[in-house]
Amino acid sequence: MNDSPVLLTPGPLTTAVETRRAMLRDWGSRDPAFIALTAELRARLLAVAGGEGTHVAVPLQGSGTFIVEAAIATLVGPADKLLVLINGAYGERMVTIAQRLGRAVETLRWAENRPVEAAAVADVLRADPAITHVALVHCETTTGILNPLPEIAAVVAEAGRALLLDAMSSFGALPIDLAAVPVTAVLASSNKCLEGVPGLGFALVQPAALERAAGNCPSLSFDLHAQWTGFEKDGQWRFTPPVQVVAALVEALRALEDEGGPAARGRRYQDNFDTLWAGMRRLGFELFLDEAVQAPIIATFRMPKDRPLAFRAFYDALAARGFLIYPGKLTQAESFRIGCIGALDRRDFERLLEAVEETLVALETA
Ligand SMILES: *Cc1c(COP(=O)(O)O)cnc(C)c1O
Repeated sequence: MNDSPVLLTPGPLTTAVETRRAMLRDWGSRDPAFIALTAELRARLLAVAGGEGTHVAVPLQGSGTFIVEAAIATLVGPADKLLVLINGAYGERMVTIAQRLGRAVETLRWAENRPVEAAAVADVLRADPAITHVALVHCETTTGILNPLPEIAAVVAEAGRALLLDAMSSFGALPIDLAAVPVTAVLASSNKCLEGVPGLGFALVQPAALERAAGNCPSLSFDLHAQWTGFEKDGQWRFTPPVQVVAALVEALRALEDEGGPAARGRRYQDNFDTLWAGMRRLGFELFLDEAVQAPIIATFRMPKDRPLAFRAFYDALAARGFLIYPGKLTQAESFRIGCIGALDRRDFERLLEAVEETLVALETA
């Protein structure tokens, strides 16, 4: 099982062998054993964010984008207006989704190295009473920047609007406390900080918001209200569930609890990031973001100015040594990314740094 490469990406990620092993059995989707597994999944997802009693968990087949699209299609009605806060590609994607759905959408943009600012959001909400919903990306995976969730959530709640949070690359590792921070819907997926395998997204939603959204969604498969009422009716999925993905995610959620929950996982990722950044700095690389706004999820490095380094050659040389890095997604600077998440610890990053050092020598003498 150790012939897999080390995935230094924002997902899919390196997973624990126990998580992959949980996929070895078959499940009948309408069998009581799988209905119980689905109930455990929904309860554990809520518990990760302290949403028991205030939110309901609604899983949906598909990748992370599918759950973002389902949430916008269901929760933002035809008469509503969405304000998207943007400092990277995943904010832009939410605008595209809203436009495809024909929903009214407004944007507020910041540079990719700047966190979104609560005061500007408050101004726009004051000026435009037609805005009903605000969408925020918690950790913008484009760069790895952390946006100030508590401040934005407070401003949106103060203005009486609903907040949709894309927590795809933060859920399970960075703190989200639904008992303390007002969020209407949290959206995330199986294959990032939860360290499950890909194939499932989920929303943690206030039930009143779902109730109000009945009939909003123009799509059958993406209708989160219908998906929710299906689970509430008989505990079953409306359409074929990805049974092995569910089994792997429940196993991964048990492992998250055993590790000590999101706080402990966040500390492991921070240790990964610190190890990576100290080593890369020593090798002459620069971090794109200021450390003050950097989340310990994924690091964006600038291509060194003094030493021309082609991404493809660098990627291939590291891949040959068993490490898969990720291309940059910046609109302005030449860059590449290294993820700090997944079933990895500082020893993996120490080995990676040795491989980077060897690669630099090999490429320079080539
Ligand atoms: C990964 C990611 C997504 C999209 O997830 P896919 O599984 O690639 O569809 C959305 N938002 C953020 C912040 C992400 O990191």
